[in-house]
Amino acid sequence: MQLKTILNRIEHFKSFVYTQAQMIDEDGDLTLEVTIEPRANGRPICSGCQQVRPGYDRLKPRRFEYVPLWGIAVWFVYTMRRVECPTCGVTVEEVPWADGKCHLTTSYRWFLARWAKRLSWQEVSRVFHTSWDNVFRAVKHAVFWGLVHRDLSGLEALGIDEIQWSRGHKYVTLVYQIQDGLKRLLWIGGERTEESLRGFFQTLSDDTRAGIRFVCSDMWKPYLNVIAEQIGQAIHVLDRFHIMKKMNEAVDQVRRDEVKRVKQAGYQRVLKHSRWCLLKRPENLTDKQTVKLDELLKYNLQSVRAYLLREDFQRFWEYRSPGWAGNFLDEWCRRTMRSRLEPLKKVAASLRNHRSLILNWFRARGTISAGTVEGLNNKAKLTTRKAYGFRTLECVKIALYHALGAQGQRAHSAKDRQDGSSCAHGLCLL
Ligand SMILES: [Zn+2]
Repeated sequence: MQLKTILNRIEHFKSFVYTQAQMIDEDGDLTLEVTIEPRANGRPICSGCQQVRPGYDRLKPRRFEYVPLWGIAVWFVYTMRRVECPTCGVTVEEVPWADGKCHLTTSYRWFLARWAKRLSWQEVSRVFHTSWDNVFRAVKHAVFWGLVHRDLSGLEALGIDEIQWSRGHKYVTLVYQIQDGLKRLLWIGGERTEESLRGFFQTLSDDTRAGIRFVCSDMWKPYLNVIAEQIGQAIHVLDRFHIMKKMNEAVDQVRRDEVKRVKQAGYQRVLKHSRWCLLKRPENLTDKQTVKLDELLKYNLQSVRAYLLREDFQRFWEYRSPGWAGNFLDEWCRRTMRSRLEPLKKVAASLRNHRSLILNWFRARGTISAGTVEGLNNKAKLTTRKAYGFRTLECVKIALYHALGAQGQRAHSAKDRQDGSSCAHGLCLL
């Protein structure tokens, strides 16, 4: 079987033919070069206006990198024509295997982007003997394609969160769609300010915005303001994940303050290695940590009291009715305010301030699942952590969209790539 036969089967271009394929050996480095020529009667298309135009001249041969075969690099070689276009002037023709000045073929870009979902960008470039820049460009192309072709109709539930992407308090705001059956990253904002979140809502049509019924966020003031302003009709939920995160931070603060104090009094042995005993749920502790926790509970330590208050609060989430949950919340806040544990008192005060938003959790029950934002957030953190090479915000954004933009994975056929409408699932990055 000839190479040309295979290529005509998988990558057939109507107005072009594969004329010859040759293998080049440069000191043991094998390369396949496949020459492409226009069909005798094929007239060039202007890349400016996509119309058939009369030819003008031909440029020097150009090489386009294609998907490697058996570990051998494959290049298409083609001598581009220029057209004389009455609208665009003398312009380079459009070819179906690549666009713009990119020397990667479209198929190869999708191929690299697909692998970059499984391997780090560094690994992809190493395995396929290409540069990190090429992998980055391929992923970026896939992301843009996905963003342009995604469908936001039926958007009902949003989750808003932030993550730190670099040292020195550099945050990004992430907006997720968190409906059953469709959980994906919709948008990334540069900061965590009102302006950055407002930027997301400005990308939505009025209809889409009016269709949002639930939104989930933490207690970050700028987010609360923008949500109230932009989607006042939606039920706003302060969700379990964010509240327990705040509570854990407070428990840890109490412990740290106490460690400092007992150190001065010479009791540091008791609190040593206690951090995770106090932060984990009891059922997740190791045997050794359980023994440690038992020992800790014997002392009337502030850390222990903070721990017990947090554990007690877990019962809150088991209520069914907002009314009873509200009673529990008020009672818990009263007790905590008397506790003299300053960090927890702060949490209680802010829970009181946001009482109705917290009780919305029970009103939205069954519509948005509890762990969704947490799950997406963990994946986002993993993506930024894995990405040692990401120094710029642009890289971080591309990586996050690529990893979290769509859940389903399906390889695109050549037809899908040319005609985005046949892609069934909204933001498909593959
Ligand atoms: Zn034109």
